[in-house]
Amino acid sequence: MLQDSNSLELIALDAASAGGVDVAGTVDIVGAVDVAPIHDLAPVRPIALHAAPQAAAALVRQHTVKNRIVCTGIGLHSGHRVTMVIAPAPTGSGIVFRRTDLAAGAASVPARFDRATDLVLGTNIANEAGVRVGTVEHLLAALSGLGIDNAVIELDGPEVPVMDGSSAPFVFLIECADRQEQAAPRRYIEILKRVEVRDQERLAALEPDDSFAVSVEIDFDNAVVGSQHCVFTVGDGVFKAELSRARTFGFAGDVERLHALGLALGGSLDNAVVVSGDRVLNEGGLRYADEFARHKALDAIGDLYLAGAPLLGRFIGVRSGHALNNRLLQALFADETAWRYTFQPAVLEQAAVGRNGRRAVAARSAIA
Ligand SMILES: [Zn+2]
Repeated sequence: MLQDSNSLELIALDAASAGGVDVAGTVDIVGAVDVAPIHDLAPVRPIALHAAPQAAAALVRQHTVKNRIVCTGIGLHSGHRVTMVIAPAPTGSGIVFRRTDLAAGAASVPARFDRATDLVLGTNIANEAGVRVGTVEHLLAALSGLGIDNAVIELDGPEVPVMDGSSAPFVFLIECADRQEQAAPRRYIEILKRVEVRDQERLAALEPDDSFAVSVEIDFDNAVVGSQHCVFTVGDGVFKAELSRARTFGFAGDVERLHALGLALGGSLDNAVVVSGDRVLNEGGLRYADEFARHKALDAIGDLYLAGAPLLGRFIGVRSGHALNNRLLQALFADETAWRYTFQPAVLEQAAVGRNGRRAVAARSAIA
């Protein structure tokens, strides 16, 4: 009904503009292939149309990647080498992981909030057969931040490669693969009222907003990290420019404990900011003065993409983490009056980009 297959357009992004990104791994474009439709993805709930179908041509469209692209890297927790392919996928299929090291049929894991499993140190998802994919959040953040609605992510192991601990290598890969506009309009999840979850002093909330914004506060008892607060409207170009390079971080004292638990075996100064007392151990220091808060914002963007569609609303996180971010989505979808599916006129999105361009959008980012 909403298909308009005669007006496919290609949006060419300037891959060269990703210059300066450290890609810890190898990148290889291997050309476009057809991807079979995915039939096992029921929508979270039926679509309520808030725009006339005949206006589809003027709506923001879904996007996938134009070409398959391959990278290799190590898993943060397993320490094992993993090859990952980002591949095109049909409209309406969302982001689906596929474990190519396992038998076909059981190996697909949709990137959905109700598939989240262990959320202690990262966001991990699993399907009904128990097939897991670990540490999906930095890749999902890049897919969300660059407006990729549909993609198949093939992995020959149980974990997305950590690359440099940020989303920047994935942004680079997606830009190399190029974006492809698709016929169907993009479906957004509009937040209609405030929903919040708490865990003692931690809080995660979603509030109505006419764009997707994140506000993150962190407070660590550490001289380097300390209290930081950042706010971003995640519009066109903002994710890449302001958030994508923020790396995951940890404290030197925790490394031994994690290794004893068989975790963070692939962790190193190449893929995490490591803080020891009042020092950052990484040569070159921080990429942003408030890199820690920005990474938490990046994490939240990735975690929230498990909603299965982009949000129109404001995320507020106070000392929030993967588990609380997921509880927030559970609470949102448990309340049918808190959200609805909607579409965006393309002209409005362009106007919003103009109004909130990159400079204006990085409205507030302060270290307290
Ligand atoms: Zn992270």
